[in-house]
Amino acid sequence: MQPLPRPAQYLLRVDDLCPTVSPKHWSAVRELIRQFGIRAILAVVPDNQDYALCMSPPDEGFWEDICAMQREGGTIALHGYQHLCTSRTKSLVPLHRRSEFAGHPLAEQCSRIRSGLALLRGRGLNPRLFVAPNHSFDRITLRALREEGLPHLSDGFARVPFLRDGVTWIPQQLWGPVSRSEGLWTICIHPNSTGPQRLNELKVFLKKHRDQFTSFDEVIGRFASVPLSLSERLHERLALWQVAFRFRRHRHRS
Ligand SMILES: [Zn+2]
Repeated sequence: MQPLPRPAQYLLRVDDLCPTVSPKHWSAVRELIRQFGIRAILAVVPDNQDYALCMSPPDEGFWEDICAMQREGGTIALHGYQHLCTSRTKSLVPLHRRSEFAGHPLAEQCSRIRSGLALLRGRGLNPRLFVAPNHSFDRITLRALREEGLPHLSDGFARVPFLRDGVTWIPQQLWGPVSRSEGLWTICIHPNSTGPQRLNELKVFLKKHRDQFTSFDEVIGRFASVPLSLSERLHERLALWQVAFRFRRHRHRS
């Protein structure tokens, strides 16, 4: 069994980044990332068509800001293609019913991943991993990621990274700052819904735990990409049930 890191390590992931992200909230999140020198995972939507992510007119400086954050140590993630979750099917991480990927044929999923990668690369970005809108993807998505040369994703409820279907999963289990004693924990925030109070909670947490924050590169260098042990698979299943129960009571967007 892969040992759990102790004390716990944390990754920060910022979702739903696109030119129409709330400029006020995104600017405050950027400032916090820079203040504490966090090497965050920045999940960027290549060609957003989701009206729910249109919080402002498109910011012409958005792509330049993202490029600057990449230069400063941020890791770019491909957050779907257009963030349009039109199919209705069950995901490997079954928190939502609607998906941009799950339920679609391989050729379509490959095409969306390839188009998204091309758009981000055309902006000077180097996408390193996949973040599925709505946590929603299936085994065909994993095959498409392998075929398109992007064999890492951020999702799942184990406490260490693991290999499944030829793709390395870096778990994402938290939607706000929560202190843990051991394991690797990814805290996901959505700038559009991260107002001053939530941002302050994150700031307090960063002050206390700054030295426990790691990066995508450190994680893939430190942890072997191997299948989960039986005991960690049981933990993963139990944690999924708990989170799915909470999601049913209070729907999160992602
Ligand atoms: Zn999203």
